[in-house]
Amino acid sequence: MQINPLKGFYILTQTGYVVCYATTEANNPNQMAQFLIDTSWDGFRVERVNIPWVPKLWLGKEELNDLHVPKEYVLGAPGKGREYLFEGLVPERISIAIMSLAQCWGSVAHAAIYANLREQFNQEILKFQGVGFLLSDLWAQTTNLSLGMLKFCQAYDEKVEKFGGDMEIPGNIQQAMVASASQLKYQSAKLSKDVCYEAGNLMGGAGLCDNTLMHDYINISRIQEIVGGSRQIQQYIMSRALRTLYKMSGI
Ligand SMILES: Cc1cc2nc3c(=O)[nH]c(=O)nc-3n(C[C@H](O)[C@H](O)[C@H](O)COP(=O)(O)OP(=O)(O)OC[C@H]3O[C@@H](n4cnc5c(N)ncnc54)[C@H](O)[C@@H]3O)c2cc1C
Repeated sequence: MQINPLKGFYILTQTGYVVCYATTEANNPNQMAQFLIDTSWDGFRVERVNIPWVPKLWLGKEELNDLHVPKEYVLGAPGKGREYLFEGLVPERISIAIMSLAQCWGSVAHAAIYANLREQFNQEILKFQGVGFLLSDLWAQTTNLSLGMLKFCQAYDEKVEKFGGDMEIPGNIQQAMVASASQLKYQSAKLSKDVCYEAGNLMGGAGLCDNTLMHDYINISRIQEIVGGSRQIQQYIMSRALRTLYKMSGI
């Protein structure tokens, strides 16, 4: 199969292979196919795109020009690509949501240690409501969303076990999980954006310096809403799910 032209952004890996999706007809996802591409093949070009918030991250901008994919590297024929793409969507969204929550926990932990150690006017700054109450709010939101996330993961694992694999979960259950995964990704990315910044803020100048990990947390929290499907895409998926639920209700 010949793929031409195609551009995309992916996190770079060291494997030497990428999985690529392309449609036989422009803007027709039903004609999507899935391919395995050896990055050393002619027609595959990748260059690094620097994201100033996260200088340690390597994002690749791929360009495919007249790339020939041998038959044995076609993982999903036209019409199958979309189905295969969506198979891995729930765990991918959840993994990004878990990363966002990890950032929240890391920054809340830093701020809690700082606020308990740092003294102003002869007392720990945690005891000033402006610090302690805000920190407890960040902690409560992070805890609650983490508990929701754990409950979802537990339910997902039970389904995988019950049906004998994540690909075997019936379509209607998968569909419900897609909406839940979007809800969790949407809210945890938003929470990371707020919690990391506010926790850093509670650490004053120390939250801005590079003597703790706070700057890493604040920086990475800036990209969470875009990676893995932007905020509006999650909102779109959720609003479509509301429509489906309404139709199913028969009202
Ligand atoms: C660091 C990083 C890592 C990434 N890693 C991967 C990866 O590993 N795999 C992968 O597949 N992708 C990856 N991406 C791509 C990422 O999923 C997209 O960047 C993201 O979904 C937004 O798409 P876009 O950049 O094309 O923005 P655009 O589509 O240009 O969107 C611009 C703005 O318009 C809004 N918008 C777009 N369409 C609509 C609509 N229909 N309704 C309402 N609002 C809309 C968006 O929400 C956004 O706010 C990565 C991106 C980054 C920055």
